[in-house]
Formats: sequence, C-alpha cells, structure tokens
Amino acid sequence: MNRFREAVSGGNKVVRSKDPSVIDGFSSVQAVRHAGRSSNGPRTRPSRTTLPATTAKPDEKKNTVGKLASRIGHTVIPVKYEIVCYECAYTFTLTGRLQDTICPKCHALLDGSDHTIDREWTGTIKTIGTIELKPEGALKGGEFIARNVIIAGHAEEGIIQAYQRLELCAGATFDVARIRMKDLVIRKDGKFTITSKFTCRNLEVEGELKAKVFIEGIVRIRRGGFLRGEVYTPHLVVEEGGGLWAKVVVDSDESSVVRMNRGSKAAPILREEKQWQSSMAWDGA
Ligand SMILES: [Zn+2]
Repeated sequence: MNRFREAVSGGNKVVRSKDPSVIDGFSSVQAVRHAGRSSNGPRTRPSRTTLPATTAKPDEKKNTVGKLASRIGHTVIPVKYEIVCYECAYTFTLTGRLQDTICPKCHALLDGSDHTIDREWTGTIKTIGTIELKPEGALKGGEFIARNVIIAGHAEEGIIQAYQRLELCAGATFDVARIRMKDLVIRKDGKFTITSKFTCRNLEVEGELKAKVFIEGIVRIRRGGFLRGEVYTPHLVVEEGGGLWAKVVVDSDESSVVRMNRGSKAAPILREEKQWQSSMAWDGA
C-alpha cells in the first residue's frame, strides 16, 4: 500500500524501481518523447547534443574544453537508448544520438533511421529507429522490426516486433499473435479491447483500454486515459484526470506479478494467442 501511495503522489516523476534496467529503458522513452515529439513532425528525433566520449583521458579533454563549453552549457543529460541488435538480439546501450551503429557483438551494421509508411507495404524493414504506420498505410505481409513501432493503420497481415515500445493509435488494426513488444502505449483517442490477458514491461494509457494486464514495470494512466479490467503490477500511477475501473493488485514485489501471471490458467498472450481484438466500436462495458 505504501508503494501505491508513493506512486500516486509521485505525479510526473518516474517511480524508481528496484531493477535499474527497467527504469533505464522507461526513462529513455520519456526522454525521447520530451525531446522530440511534435504533432506534425517525426515522432522521434535524435538528441540535439552530443557529449564527448567519456572514455577520453583528462589530458585529451583539455584540448576540447573550449570548443565544447558552449554546447555543454545547453546540455542536460545525454539520452540513453536501449538497443537490441535485430540480427543477433544482443542488448546494449547507445548514448547520445541515435544513428547507424555497429552491434558490439555480431558487428552487423544497424540502421538507425526512422521510417514512415503511408501506403500499402510488403516487405521487411529492420531498424533500431522508429517505424510509423500511418492511418492510410497497410502492412500487407512482411515484418516491421524496430526499436519503436507506431501503428495507426492496418497491420493485421504483417509481423511486428518492437524491441522497445509499441504505440497503438486510434484506428489501428492488428493481430496480437503477430506482435511482440516490451512497452505498450495506448495513444489518445485509441480505444481497444483485448479479450485475453497480456504481459509487458510498462503500460501507458492515454486512450481507453479494456484488458487483463500483467505489467512488470509501471502502469501509468494519463489524463483522459481510462483502464478497465484487471491490473497486476508493482507500480501504478493514475494521473489527475485519468480513470481506472478495474480489479487492481499493486505489489511492489515484482516477482509476485510474474508469479501471478504464471499461476493463471490462461496462456500468456504473446506466446500462444488467438486474436487481440481491436475495435473502434467501444463496448462501454
Ligand atoms: Zn548483433
């Protein structure tokens, strides 16, 4: 219960988790959103500042202090990206600008660019950036493999793997059996009913979601968002103006959420699944 109060009174602050790897990923998501989001432009954008390599020796740094002084004046904290190599699945951290990079393990060159699809698309796209499927876009076979995937169009005929965040926007159609993600965001005006339970790391609700969810990190219900159904999580934040009508278990012992999930009779949704029903026709129940 203490954990719950702390989470609620925390407002916009990120609630600290015992597992630093969880927070690292979530914090970077927040940082990207604050730094790069606008209504018209690309959904994500590289950081404007680049810090010098921290591996430089003190003597080497001296020469560059003058040049860097003005830039450092504007620098807050360098953005960190949790990157999963789409060739070998190795996870590593990228600091500074998100760009093409070499996997430290398999040495594959990883595409760091963002992609926007606004028409019918067949084929595979792999990137450590973001793929956005616009409302007029349709994935007709093939795969989107990316750090972040944003779906506003029709994706039920393709396979989607978001190593970090999957965003579902109003009008999105998809088949959950063909989706993998770590964090899930239900965007404003998006209304989805998920008929079987599902598990992910963090869940953020700006729109409406009816589901049975097991969240290993944080559930965050934003202003105007509404979550119904059942919620099992170590951290719950309901912001001012957010709604929650659900059976709720908040247990700061994250492993207990995993245990509850395992103990449940239903199969974990992202492994064995029938259909993640998405519909704009909100049943209102
Ligand atoms: Zn690799």
